[in-house]
Amino acid sequence: MPITVTKPFFPPLEEYQALLAKIWENNWLTNQGPFAQELEARLKEVLSIDNLIFVNNGTIAIQIALKALNLSDEVITTPFSYVATTSSLVWEGFTPVMVDIDPETLNIDPSLIEAAITNRTTAILATHVFGNPCDVDAIEAIARKHNLKVIYDAAHAFGVKYKGRSLYSYGDASTASFHATKLFHTAEGGAIFFRDVADLQTASKMRNFGHTSPTTFDCVGINGKNSELHAAMGLVNLGYVPAIIAERKAISERYDAELSKEVTRPRLTVGCDVYNYAYYPILVRDEPTLENVIRTLESDDIIPRRYFYPSLNDLPYLNGDSADVPVAKDITKRILCLPLYPTLDADEQARVVKAVNRAVQP
Ligand SMILES: *Cc1c(COP(=O)(O)O)cnc(C)c1O
Repeated sequence: MPITVTKPFFPPLEEYQALLAKIWENNWLTNQGPFAQELEARLKEVLSIDNLIFVNNGTIAIQIALKALNLSDEVITTPFSYVATTSSLVWEGFTPVMVDIDPETLNIDPSLIEAAITNRTTAILATHVFGNPCDVDAIEAIARKHNLKVIYDAAHAFGVKYKGRSLYSYGDASTASFHATKLFHTAEGGAIFFRDVADLQTASKMRNFGHTSPTTFDCVGINGKNSELHAAMGLVNLGYVPAIIAERKAISERYDAELSKEVTRPRLTVGCDVYNYAYYPILVRDEPTLENVIRTLESDDIIPRRYFYPSLNDLPYLNGDSADVPVAKDITKRILCLPLYPTLDADEQARVVKAVNRAVQP
């Protein structure tokens, strides 16, 4: 069996089956049924956030957030994220304006944002990369000064706290992905968190085609609803999150202790008081070394992932060559995520460590 970069968490089948039986009893599959409502209520409790909606994936979450905040034109964003951050902007007709990242935290560098603001800028869409918080205070100050909205792609941020609050509670809107590969998942799914209850109300209409009653519509909507089957998966998985995070922490700490000093790691943002160990990214000195690490791992049937590559300004549908993002271009060439999931055992991890350490030797 190959060792992959991640493996979805599967809860005990009986627990999921028990909820499936209830779905059959309820005779209700989708359209904001009892389990979707219960999952929203449980998430509000667990995260201490009032304004949230459950949606069908993390990409629709970004797209609905962009629409609900009534943005237009240019949006400042990061070249170092998963492609969905940029593609959502392009899909919704916005122009992404790439601002370079901080070489230590790998998040958008706030000191470069103001120079990218024009009279067409309406928002900042930044990613909390690998669950590491952006400099939310600096970004908030810039947004207030220039009257911009802030959206965080918080797809990696489940369970993370910054200055005592869920990281999802920062920004005008913040979006989560509950995809199968994420730390907490509903197989497919996501959520949107809003500062303002009025934006939440707009978004929840948008999630359901813009319906205000069976025959009335007061905005353009889309189908962002999620099903009872997905909500039930979330309700079961929620109970396992503390154990999942604890196991990821233990594996991460073993990597920290055993990997060669030739390997470096991003720096955790100051003020992040609870981290979730969602990923284990490593940086090596240059791209040939990275390619050597990948080859060495693959020769032992270990499949890492180049998260994130390429730098998003280089997407073929953007005029990326003009983007002045030297840090993102450099980092994307020499970063890799190592296997990290709760059932990765000590022997398997030792194989990963051995291969990496051999490949990075100067
Ligand atoms: C996973 C992910 C998404 C997309 O979420 P889906 O639920 O797969 O649509 C968006 N942004 C980032 C940073 C992600 O990692």
